[in-house]
Amino acid sequence: MSSLQSLYHQYKEKMQKRSDLYHAIALMHWDQEINLPSEGDSFRSQQIATLSGISHEMFTSDEMGELLDKLYEQRKQLSPKATRNVEETKRDYDKRQKYPTDFVTQLSRAQSEALQAWKEAQEEDQFKKFAPHLARLVELRRKECEIIGYDDHPYDALLDQYEPYTKTKDIENIFTQVKEQLVPFVHQLLSSSQPDTSSLQQHYPHDKQWDFGNYLLQELGYNFEAGRQDIALHPFTISFNPNDVRLTTRINEYDLREMPWSTIHEAGHALYEQGLPEEQYGLPLGEAVSLGIHESQSRLWENNVGRSWSFCKAFFPILKAYFPNALFDVSLSELYRALNIVQPSLIRTAADELTYHLHILIRFEIEKALIEDQLPVKDIPALWNKKYKKYLDIEVPSDQQGVLQDIHWSHGSFGYFPTYSLGSFYAAQFFQQAQADIPQLSQKIEERQFAPLLSWLRENIHQHGRRYSAQELCTQITGAPLNFNSFMEYAEQKYRPLYQLTTSPSS
Ligand code: ZN
Repeated sequence: MSSLQSLYHQYKEKMQKRSDLYHAIALMHWDQEINLPSEGDSFRSQQIATLSGISHEMFTSDEMGELLDKLYEQRKQLSPKATRNVEETKRDYDKRQKYPTDFVTQLSRAQSEALQAWKEAQEEDQFKKFAPHLARLVELRRKECEIIGYDDHPYDALLDQYEPYTKTKDIENIFTQVKEQLVPFVHQLLSSSQPDTSSLQQHYPHDKQWDFGNYLLQELGYNFEAGRQDIALHPFTISFNPNDVRLTTRINEYDLREMPWSTIHEAGHALYEQGLPEEQYGLPLGEAVSLGIHESQSRLWENNVGRSWSFCKAFFPILKAYFPNALFDVSLSELYRALNIVQPSLIRTAADELTYHLHILIRFEIEKALIEDQLPVKDIPALWNKKYKKYLDIEVPSDQQGVLQDIHWSHGSFGYFPTYSLGSFYAAQFFQQAQADIPQLSQKIEERQFAPLLSWLRENIHQHGRRYSAQELCTQITGAPLNFNSFMEYAEQKYRPLYQLTTSPSS
C-alpha cells in the first residue's frame, strides 16, 4: 500500500467508526420515539448526550485535522470519488473547527430553554412567552453567520447547513417566481368551485389502513428485509445504514387522505437511503446530498406519482377492496379530485401541494428579515398574519395556529424551511426528465410498475451520495440548474383540467 493509500485507509476507518457511533445515537433516538418507557427518558437523554460528545470529539480531533490536511494536499492523486470524499469531509471539518466551545454551549442552552418556552407559549397561545427566547436565538444565529463566514448574505451561512452550496439569492430568485406565478394561479383556483372531499372523510378502519400502507410500500419497492415500519406521533424516516432504513406513519381513521400519502412520502425518503452505496458507508459519498434533494425524493413519490391520475387509477380497485363500505359509491374521478383539493389553510403540514409553498414563502421572508436585523421579534405575529392575508387570503385567529405552529424556530433552525419547497421544485424537474427518459412512464404507473422509475432514481441520484452538489446533480440529470418552470408547468397541467380552468392567469 502506498503511503497515500494508507492515509486514505486510516481516514476511512476513522470516518466509519464515527458513523457507527452516530448511527448508534440514531437508533437510540428511534427507540425513544417508538418504544421507550416514560421513565427511561432522562437517562436516555444523558446517554445520547455522552455519545454525541464522543462523536463530536472524534471528528474534530487534531489528529483528524492533520490526516485531512495531508490527504487534501495530495487529493488529486486519489480516485475522483475518493477526492470528493476528502474535499467534502475537509469542508465539514473546517466549518466545525470555527465554532468556539462557549458558543456551542450557549447555543445549546438557548435551544433547550427556547424549546420549553415554545411548548408553553403554544399551549397557552402566548407569543410573548416565546419572544425573548426567539430573540436570543436570532442573536446567536446572527453571531453564527459571522463565525462561519459568507460571501453575499449572512443567511447563506445558515442555509449552507441544510442545503450546501445554495445561496440566499438562489432562494430569492425562486420565491420571486412563486410570488409572480404561483400566488395568482392559486388565487384563480380558490375562486373556482371546489371538489367535494366528504368521500375521503368517512370511517376507514385503522387495521385496514395499516395493511394497505404495508402493501403500498411493497409495491413501491421498499425493501422490508432492510427496514421496518412503525406507528409514531409525527411520521419520520431514519437510517442506520442502507440495509436498515426504518419509517413510521400515523393513522387517521376519519381521513383517508393522510396515512397512505404520508406513507408514500416517507417511502420516498426511505428508498433514497436504501439506495445509497453501501461501500461508501460513513463517508460523504454514502450520504444524501442535502435536505432539498432528500425532500425531492419524498415529494416526487408522494405528489408527482402518488397524487397523479395514473396512480389513483392503478390503486382505485384495490382501495375499494380494502374499504368497500366507505368507497362503494365513490367514483375514480371523485377520489382524484378530492385528493387534490387546493385550499388555503392555517397549518403548513396540512397544506396541499400548491399552497404549501406560500407557507414557506412567508417563513422565508420573515427569517431573512430577522437575520438582516430588519425585523424586531415582537413584530413577527402581526407581520405573519398580514402575509397570510396577502398570500393565502386567510385570517389567522391565534398565534397558536399562526406563528407558534412550527417547532423549527424553537431550535433557531433558520434556513431549514426553504429546503421543503426546493424539494418539490427539484422533484418536478426530475420527474419531467424521468418522463422523457422512461418510455410511457404514466402507463407503467397505471400498471403499478414502479421498478423503472426506482431504477432511474437509483442510477441518477441515489448511487452518487454527495458526489455532486444539488445544483450540479440537477444540471447533470436535467441539463439545467434548478428552475421554477418545471413546477409551474406541472401545476398548470394538472390543476387547470382538475379545476376546469380555461384562461391562463396572465391573460
Ligand atoms: Zn419529508
